[in-house]
Amino acid sequence: MGASESGAMSEAEAGAPETISLYEKWRKIYPLWVSGGWQRSRRIVLVILLVVFYSAPWLTWNGEPGFRIDLAHRRFTLFWTTFVPEEFVLLAWLLLIAALTLFTVTVAAGRVFCGWACPQTIWSLVYFSVERWIEGDRAARMRLDRGPWNRRKVVKKILKYSAWAMIAFSISVTFVGFFEPIRELIPRILTFDLGKWEIIALFLPAALSFLLSGVLREQVCFHMCPYARFQSVMFDRDSLIISYDVDRGEPRGSRKRSADPASLGLGACVDCRKCVSVCPTGIDIRDGLQYQCIGCAACIDACTEVMHTMGYGESLIRYSSENRDEGQQRHWLRPRLIGYASLILVMLGVFGYTLAHRVPVGFDVFGDRSRLFREDWDGSVENVFTLRVANREGEDREYRIGFESPLPLRYDGPEKVRVPAGGVESIPIRMILPGDAAGRAESAEVLFRLESLDSPDVEVEKTTRFHLPPGRE
Ligand code: SF4
Ligand code: SF4
Repeated sequence: MGASESGAMSEAEAGAPETISLYEKWRKIYPLWVSGGWQRSRRIVLVILLVVFYSAPWLTWNGEPGFRIDLAHRRFTLFWTTFVPEEFVLLAWLLLIAALTLFTVTVAAGRVFCGWACPQTIWSLVYFSVERWIEGDRAARMRLDRGPWNRRKVVKKILKYSAWAMIAFSISVTFVGFFEPIRELIPRILTFDLGKWEIIALFLPAALSFLLSGVLREQVCFHMCPYARFQSVMFDRDSLIISYDVDRGEPRGSRKRSADPASLGLGACVDCRKCVSVCPTGIDIRDGLQYQCIGCAACIDACTEVMHTMGYGESLIRYSSENRDEGQQRHWLRPRLIGYASLILVMLGVFGYTLAHRVPVGFDVFGDRSRLFREDWDGSVENVFTLRVANREGEDREYRIGFESPLPLRYDGPEKVRVPAGGVESIPIRMILPGDAAGRAESAEVLFRLESLDSPDVEVEKTTRFHLPPGRE
């Protein structure tokens, strides 16, 4: 009975539909530390970018910040130039130039931004360096994670997460330093003199950095980064990619160092998988270009080491292009690249021109839209205007208000206005045409003039219309 029953069950089991999970199980990647020319260059770039990030909030000139987004006063400062909200279009323009530059770099050099300058990659490398310093290289980290929880493991994990927390906190403080003066922020942190929103603003970037760059790392590139997904459509056959030299490498196989690969029928790849071990995203580039490849060039350095040890010459993995891989000529100057570069130059030119001809004060005149004029009992006619003065400089400024008109108008409003640095003032004023003149006058233009009392050469004008009742216009 047992035999026949068990036979029937095997058949049923064999016929049962197999369930295939559509979700790949997450596996932790333990990249091997690699040295080499590309990695040295990458680490130099990393240090430069870190120095820029950490020092930027501290850069001041005559008390003015070099970079600041001052949300409280609704202004931003870039290279010691203060911009008021009405100039935020310039910031948008600058972001557009940055985005276009990124696209151009992608067309020319593939994912070089991802591997060399993306904040996620940079911070992941920083967290990874600390991890390696505390827990050891790949094999030691794997052993530690798979081993039992003992005192050594607990101490190492506490040390690592404490160091990560300190890095995350330093990022957070610097980040908040782009929004408020860091020289005032740090003493307040040290004395716990912080408001509720400041605590949240400090905690959030720290938590995000710890989670995204420390814990999740390559998962962010795989599943969260939209740029990773759409940038492949920007590639052309000449874009720089990391690729494996199949012609030289295959057929792959292990062999003794002294063996002659040709007599064994083998290519140069010794199948040591070092290029896979060093890869921060855990892929095998020998399978071809994959969207997970962030272009960090770690596999190039790894293979260079192996090839030199074997005496086989250059690395099998290299910066290449589809055309180069197929033995065709590489074109550095391509129509799309020239188009993007020209557009960037034009946009930079417009930005530079706007900046060079930027008036340090913004001046607008708005009429009362709900009531163009008001007639008084004595026949006089009154128009109400709002003068909007935006001080685009880094210091408080005082301005004199004047006007010209063919009509004998009387001005009812302040003669001078003081506007704080980067601030905007709205001044309601009245223009009155006396009754004896109103009867025979026609609607006419009024020219308002604003002169800076601190800089005599700064003078702006705005023209508007003085409205009269129908029949007199
Ligand atoms: S490091 Fe070079 S030799 Fe080793 S498996 Fe990778 S491609 Fe082959
Ligand atoms: S395949 Fe090479 S270049 Fe791409 S992510 Fe891995 S190590 Fe970096």
